[in-house]
Amino acid sequence: MNILVVNCGSSSLKFQLINAETEDCIAKGLCERIGIEGSMISYTPAGGEKEKTVTPMNDHTEAIRLVLEALTNEKTGVVKSLDEIGAVGHRIVHGGEKFAEATIITDEVLKAIEECNELAPLHNPANLIGINACKKLMPNTPMVAVFDTAFHQTMPEEAYLYGLPYDYYRNYKIRRYGFHGTSHAYVSKRASEVLGEKYEDLKIIVCHLGNGASISAVKNGKCVDTTMGLTPLEGLIMGTRSGDIDPAIIEFIAHKENKSIDEIMNVLNKKSGVLGLSDNLSSDFRDIEDGYFAGQENAVRAMNVFVYRVIKYIGAYIAAMNGVDAICFTAGVGENGPLVRTLVCKNLEYMGITLDEELNQKRGLDLVITTPESKTKVLVIPTNEELMIAKQTAQLVK
Ligand code: AMP
Repeated sequence: MNILVVNCGSSSLKFQLINAETEDCIAKGLCERIGIEGSMISYTPAGGEKEKTVTPMNDHTEAIRLVLEALTNEKTGVVKSLDEIGAVGHRIVHGGEKFAEATIITDEVLKAIEECNELAPLHNPANLIGINACKKLMPNTPMVAVFDTAFHQTMPEEAYLYGLPYDYYRNYKIRRYGFHGTSHAYVSKRASEVLGEKYEDLKIIVCHLGNGASISAVKNGKCVDTTMGLTPLEGLIMGTRSGDIDPAIIEFIAHKENKSIDEIMNVLNKKSGVLGLSDNLSSDFRDIEDGYFAGQENAVRAMNVFVYRVIKYIGAYIAAMNGVDAICFTAGVGENGPLVRTLVCKNLEYMGITLDEELNQKRGLDLVITTPESKTKVLVIPTNEELMIAKQTAQLVK
């Protein structure tokens, strides 16, 4: 069954058409600047050339219409008609406590997703717009919502509660939710397959290190803790996000710089992380890596602080799970940055981890990068959230 996977942002829409049985990506692309001047669609059929077209898109319905036209185009399309698209899988950022699993979209589900909007005001409304646009153009095609938060719903209370008045949880559902769940689920499961061991028997730590970054602890196939919290701001140091800070810093800056809460949140989300630590050198880890190798003080500082936080959380999750069998690296930096993996693993020698530096330099494969003697395995697993969404969607609509 062919599944159209849609990841809708406020002004963008990423898509992939995936054959859920063969796991092949048949075509993929991106609509950008939806509702803004200069909107553009890029489209790449498998094995074909990428084509970019600048064309007006006033809203997401027009964007989806262009996507469907591209997929069915006589010359460069990959299906003859929309009947060859069995279902649509939507990536939804926040499912709150309502959704511990992917679900077929009904009017009731739509309402429940809408109720989670206040937990992810930048993302969920855009995700809903994507669903409604698809409903308009493909009214008879089943649709599935796959939530970023769902995989983390197995966390125990001690991991998801904050040390706040319990009423905040009771009344407003303030708690740790965690994000990147589809990636953490895919990578941990894939690691068990690569190791040839039962998922249910393993203690796995997944380091999803991209522009946004989070770590999760997966014990016996279930997430028991993760670094992101109520929002994706908590935890690791990221491209532009601060990760954990003393909450009293917010009041301190407010007084020092006469800033509002909104202004400070903007700093924490957009001007902090390695961008802020490197004195605005870059939020891109490739630049930070280059600067690190060139011995630039600001880049070395940003890299060291980033790596130290990763090491600390790995240590915390080993303690939380009372051990670890495998540590996985994934996402932009985790998959492509051998330096980060080397620096992190150097500090894990006490656990008998020894990296094979030659394997650590390889890219694009599911790979164990420790030596055979290493007591704990370290793996690089390229994440594939779209495939996971396609598989879950196919399973539900079958
Ligand atoms: P993601 O959010 O998963 O797409 O990851 C984006 C991040 O991955 C950016 O900060 C990129 O700089 C980083 N990245 C991509 N390629 C490399 C590379 N070869 N080495 C280090 N970082 C990389």
